[in-house]
Amino acid sequence: MLLLIPWFRIHGNSLLRVDIPDLTLYFFGQTLRIEELYLVLLFSLALTLGFLLMTMLLGRVWCGWLCPQTTLTDLAEWFAARLRIKRHHQQQSKSLLQKLALQLFYLSLAFLVSANLLWYFIEPQRFFVQLTTGQLHYAVLISLLLVALAVYLDLALVRRLMCSDFCPYGRLQATLADRSTLTLHLPPAELPRCIECGSCVRVCPMQIDIRRGDQVECINCGRCLDACRQVMAKRNQPGLISYTFGTTGGGIRSALNLRTLLLSLATLALTVILVLAVYQRPVASLKVAVSHTAASRPLKDGTLATFFNAWVHNRSNAKADYRITARQAVNHSPLQLRGQSDQYELAAGENLRIDFVLVTPVPESRLDVEFILSDPSGTELAVASAHIK
Ligand code: SF4
Ligand code: SF4
Repeated sequence: MLLLIPWFRIHGNSLLRVDIPDLTLYFFGQTLRIEELYLVLLFSLALTLGFLLMTMLLGRVWCGWLCPQTTLTDLAEWFAARLRIKRHHQQQSKSLLQKLALQLFYLSLAFLVSANLLWYFIEPQRFFVQLTTGQLHYAVLISLLLVALAVYLDLALVRRLMCSDFCPYGRLQATLADRSTLTLHLPPAELPRCIECGSCVRVCPMQIDIRRGDQVECINCGRCLDACRQVMAKRNQPGLISYTFGTTGGGIRSALNLRTLLLSLATLALTVILVLAVYQRPVASLKVAVSHTAASRPLKDGTLATFFNAWVHNRSNAKADYRITARQAVNHSPLQLRGQSDQYELAAGENLRIDFVLVTPVPESRLDVEFILSDPSGTELAVASAHIK
């Protein structure tokens, strides 16, 4: 999924991408500008709570089934097995060709992962064109090399050590797990049936022995369960190891407790707030600022010309026409705009900068002004305030 997501587009934009030059996040059909980052914060909070809930209920299921570190290590071990290099016998003699092939595989994987990460910032099509024509920005090139180096070192030296010794999430899991968390379990009552074949230990990626009880290194991958089931099937017996909620063999009901209930409610509430916040956003936004490059000046007719820069953002998923008008904030009497203030067409998600001049009587003190962004039918979509002195 992580490899494929950057290749998909929705409403003409990437499915999921951060555009750094435009300070925009494309998120599954929604276009979020930098000023809407509070939505990303809300999303991160909801995701964190959901993640905690998942850990509380399903233990280290993330580690065993979803984590990219596990997937990469599985791939590295799969390739080593193709080369007949055994996982737990790293000191065995390997031919130079085997060593070279393994290192080349690590390197290819490292560059693939690194490029994949960058595709969440630069569309992959553009990335490849710029890479082949030598136009890739040096910052992107350095990022590509640094991430690839980190992944290569991870694959060559760290692999499962990350899960057992370094990853903070593994430690956090130990504090989140309780009597009802899903775990791989070999009940003591089943131990007398064990034929000491050692299959469960040989297949365990974390090199632990589940027969010794729960261990923090266990990533809930279930390989020992499969191995034991296969061994015991030959004897027409069920496997000894099972998934249970808690170590006492309780069912799913033991997972329904106050802690999980409260966390579920908090996650649900945040998700609802997030969905409402995203879908109730105005369809367009307007930002206005007095120009820093052109000073206001009096005109021959005794009025004052003040230069403004404006940014109009079409947040909808279709192209739309807009116009900008101005009025005094106090009595709503219209003010004159000159320059490009009338009728612009913006593509879906487009953010356009517009420069115009506001003509007002020379104010005796401060004059508060409102700029109105409206659609062709005159419906007000956004209002921005400014003042001139
Ligand atoms: S003990 Fe079983 S579930 Fe745990 S890591 Fe080893 S093989 Fe996977
Ligand atoms: S695979 Fe099953 S039978 Fe074999 S050692 Fe492990 S627990 Fe015992």
